[in-house]
Amino acid sequence: MSIVFVVSAPSGSGKSTLLRRLLAQDEGLLFSVSYTTRAPRGLERQDQDYHYVSRPEFEAAIARDEFLEHAEVFGNYYGTHRGILERAQAEGKDLLLDIDVQGAGQLKVRVPDAVSIFILAPSRNDLETRLRARSEDAEDVIQRRLRGAAREIRNYGAYDYVLVNQDLEKSVDTLAAIVKAERVRRTRMEQQVQRILGTFA
Ligand code: ADP
Ligand code: 5GP
Repeated sequence: MSIVFVVSAPSGSGKSTLLRRLLAQDEGLLFSVSYTTRAPRGLERQDQDYHYVSRPEFEAAIARDEFLEHAEVFGNYYGTHRGILERAQAEGKDLLLDIDVQGAGQLKVRVPDAVSIFILAPSRNDLETRLRARSEDAEDVIQRRLRGAAREIRNYGAYDYVLVNQDLEKSVDTLAAIVKAERVRRTRMEQQVQRILGTFA
């Protein structure tokens, strides 16, 4: 069974940077490319960062119940397609989802043993510096993201792990350690233990 890892963070915390690093060093993870109605940003590419679709297309997919979870974030729809779980299963990989707090809540209902990780910057100042360093957003968008951050952080109690992204290298190591530890949980080792026991028969 694939493990589903759900990662959420206020925008600018460093989540994309961390996940990119994690994916580069762990071939056992499949990144779930979401559907969104927002326009591509910077160097983002269709079907690589997101599947970009129109609002009517997204609403038709909701009506067909095609999403495992979906939410409206900062005025745009975002959603995870149901097919991605089967794909991870077929490829023998664990699934990595980058979704917001609302989506993480819906996912926990559908996939109760999903492992959730909340990432945050060490302070508001750090978050603001990072949002500016990324230089992708206009000032009003930065202010809106900062206002939204405290609200998102207050929801941290619903997550299994909390990662304060201070030093990037250490954070990548911690994230990789969480993934490794979850893979050897007793409840996920039953088959392997039975196989080993079989060699004693
Ligand atoms: P998110 O995906 O959470 O919105 P990004 O990954 O785009 O955030 O990171 C926002 C900015 O912060 C980027 O310029 C990135 O290089 C920088 N950043 C990420 N992690 C750290 C860190 N630990 N220390 C300092 N800067 C960081
Ligand atoms: P951005 O527009 O900055 O890429 O993402 C905005 C927010 O939408 C982030 O918090 C991101 O985690 C979230 N998001 C991205 N994809 C999905 C998704 O499929 N479902 C949900 N619920 N949120 C998503």
